[in-house]
Amino acid sequence: MSPPKDLPKNYHFAEVEPRWQGIWRDEDNYFDRTSSLPQFVIDTPPPYPTGTFHIGNAFNWCYIDFIARYKRMKGYNVMFPQGWDCHGLPTEVKVEEIHGITKNDVPREKFREMCRELTIANIGKMRLTLRRLGFSVDWSNEYITMLPAYYKKTQISFLKMLASGYIYQSEHPVNFCTRCETAIAFAEVAYEPRETFLNYFDFDGVEIATTRPELLAACVAVAVHPEDERYTGISGRHLTVPIFGHKVPIVSDEAVDPAFGSGAVMICTFGDKQDVFWWKQHQLELRKAIDRQGRMTPVAGKYEGKKSGECREAILSDMKALGILRRQEPLEQRVGTCWRCKTPIEIMSERQWFVKIVPDEIMKAAREVKWTPGHMFLRMENWIGQMEWDWCISRQRIFATPIPVWFCRECGTMILPEEKDLPLDPTTTKPGHPCNKCGSTEVVGEEDVLDTWMDSSISVLNVTGWDGTRAPPLFPAQIRPQGHDIIRTWAFYTILRAVALTGKRPWDEILVNGMVLGEDGFKMSKSRGNIISPEEIVEQYGSDAFRQWAAAGAATGSDIMFNWNDVIAASRFQTKLWNVARFILLQLEKSEFNHEAPVTALADRWLLARLAETVSEVTEAMEQYQFDRGLKALREFSWNVLADNYIELVKGRLYSDDPSRDSACRALWETIDALCRMMAPYAPHFSEEIYSHLREGSVHKAAWPEALHSDPEAREKGDLLVRLVSEIRRFKHEQGLALNAPLGKVTVFSSRINGDGGDMARALNASIEWCADTGALEKRPGEIVFNMAVIGPALRKDAKAFMDAVRALPPDLLSSPPAAIDIGGRHVGVPAHSFSQQTDYLVGGTRVDLITVGDVIVTVQKHP
Ligand SMILES: [Zn+2]
Ligand SMILES: [Zn+2]
Repeated sequence: MSPPKDLPKNYHFAEVEPRWQGIWRDEDNYFDRTSSLPQFVIDTPPPYPTGTFHIGNAFNWCYIDFIARYKRMKGYNVMFPQGWDCHGLPTEVKVEEIHGITKNDVPREKFREMCRELTIANIGKMRLTLRRLGFSVDWSNEYITMLPAYYKKTQISFLKMLASGYIYQSEHPVNFCTRCETAIAFAEVAYEPRETFLNYFDFDGVEIATTRPELLAACVAVAVHPEDERYTGISGRHLTVPIFGHKVPIVSDEAVDPAFGSGAVMICTFGDKQDVFWWKQHQLELRKAIDRQGRMTPVAGKYEGKKSGECREAILSDMKALGILRRQEPLEQRVGTCWRCKTPIEIMSERQWFVKIVPDEIMKAAREVKWTPGHMFLRMENWIGQMEWDWCISRQRIFATPIPVWFCRECGTMILPEEKDLPLDPTTTKPGHPCNKCGSTEVVGEEDVLDTWMDSSISVLNVTGWDGTRAPPLFPAQIRPQGHDIIRTWAFYTILRAVALTGKRPWDEILVNGMVLGEDGFKMSKSRGNIISPEEIVEQYGSDAFRQWAAAGAATGSDIMFNWNDVIAASRFQTKLWNVARFILLQLEKSEFNHEAPVTALADRWLLARLAETVSEVTEAMEQYQFDRGLKALREFSWNVLADNYIELVKGRLYSDDPSRDSACRALWETIDALCRMMAPYAPHFSEEIYSHLREGSVHKAAWPEALHSDPEAREKGDLLVRLVSEIRRFKHEQGLALNAPLGKVTVFSSRINGDGGDMARALNASIEWCADTGALEKRPGEIVFNMAVIGPALRKDAKAFMDAVRALPPDLLSSPPAAIDIGGRHVGVPAHSFSQQTDYLVGGTRVDLITVGDVIVTVQKHP
């Protein structure tokens, strides 16, 4: 027995969407490890659990869900896991805020517990949004990076890369945020323009220009260009640093820009990256003048303890007092800042942990991955090309994966845990064995923790089943979907780690999406007040309309502007398609039809041919992740082909009891069925709702439609038929006839088409005759039409006589009129375009109206 077919008059997303969300079962989306179907594992991005699943996430997840649903229908065993990338500073800051404490007020474990609690609560909130948007997440493959099951893997990966030489610790200059009090990676440095002063001062007789006078205490050399004539012969001498009094060498170096300032620069440890190069190149001393909190160290003498900004002011004023500050010029500068808190970064030499970057092997793996859109690969290529320093992975924070390492208190030897003892926190547990070297059991646990990207960059290993020992059984994953803003971080680090841990590329493909911009075209931000939450949109128009906005709003990889009109258009399309589906279902249930009936009528064959083309187009678009193109094809087909043309053409047949009605019913049934299936990835609730009235089972378990009816002949003839009907309707309208008024007799002169099963006759309320040639069409000269706009001004009072004279001309002269004409004995010139002769058409001796449609002639003998 088939399900109830009558659809309610209106589509109510607010009732339908939650209803289906309640009916669908999570198990339906589980990846089946015992399945023999081809696998399709998606390495989804684990969002940061802020508590709000923002529109950028939601946009990204729409793409993922389109892919997951499509691939399931194509017969893949799909994994759409949901991860949560928990660790990091924002949560620490939030916890400090909520509890009114600083991280040092409570024991480390207690602080971590507070962070975990907040994170779990936030994840709970975000899960609800994910469900509300109808994402077909595989909740059996959810992972939470702060939980032992996951960070055990992070720790194993650390130990494996330590053993293979990819990870090492070293004293090396790193980017450091003195507000967050932690080292950060290069990828986390954001560059911002700042207005500052370039200070010229007398440095023991040499003029130096600097933007950072507070680093004077850290000055270890002065550098000049070897060919700068102002400083010939000066290299190798020593200068005394003003105020501080220590001596520094003068070195010459090609990298000095003689045009900047005075051409002499001071090298400090460290003002910028260039200082680091010079420091290594010239093997200079190390003077740390700023500590981890951004305060001056004892190296700064009387300025010790001051914040670096205060120290700058104090030194400038002391320079003035000493009379050595010559002048100050304003300067526009790009300053490296912490990406989280915008504090200018300091470069500090610190003992840190590093991951070795081997650009060639990362590049090789990146090339093996298929990039969509292709140009995104260039961003990766550029980033790899500019790698200068290894990846600093240690952080001086608390809420993060602990580095599982101890050091022997006696001899300093590094002591590593056994994998079976992981996960662990070396600051609260002891190793299971004494020091291998000296046998001491006194150890110090590593307090540094790991960069969050160390957690998230093994997401692909986690979802493909890595347990730290054997090769992950599902590796590599099929696709990584992500935003272009994290190509340098997440994509880069994932490839690096996959190569280091497995020797292979992490995925077959990567799909890069754009960013969501506000309605004003700017990045959404609190300060601009242009933030829109997905909840707000879903509330007003439903999640299926939101999802269609995500698909239609931009080409894949481009940034997408939020636009209410696109959401409204999506909602309107649903209304239109709902009405079409409702009409079709009413017709189908009105009287039984034979589902196996041969599709014979031209219009029906045409519809199925157009459907087959649409299936091909949408399938190709989905295969290439061109969701906008796929949805556009579906809308055009539904709106133009199905609703405006086909249904209008066959309505009469559907209302009749003509035997060919079965052919139309079958074509409609196949069409609405395929449309539901193709709409399912985009609008899962809407499609399910219609489908449930159409047949048993869920549309999401149905197979993706095949392009079955390639029928070029029906396509071409049907196009002509549709055009004929539309042109003749226009004629009817121009004649002031109601669309359903009887029209009379229509004759179509064409050899291309010789019948349509009566559809056109019913659609036009006319009798139709199909003529293969125009033999039956007669032509004869008709009425003469005068152009008074020409005749009036040119002939004035002769106008009437002129027209009489023209009417009296023999027929052959009418078609090529003489230059002058005789009026009462006078020769009067014939003005150009003053008249023309119409042609009358006749069929069977009766006058008819003539319409041309392309190269086809149609005559209408109106109803008397
Ligand atoms: Zn910071
Ligand atoms: Zn020892």
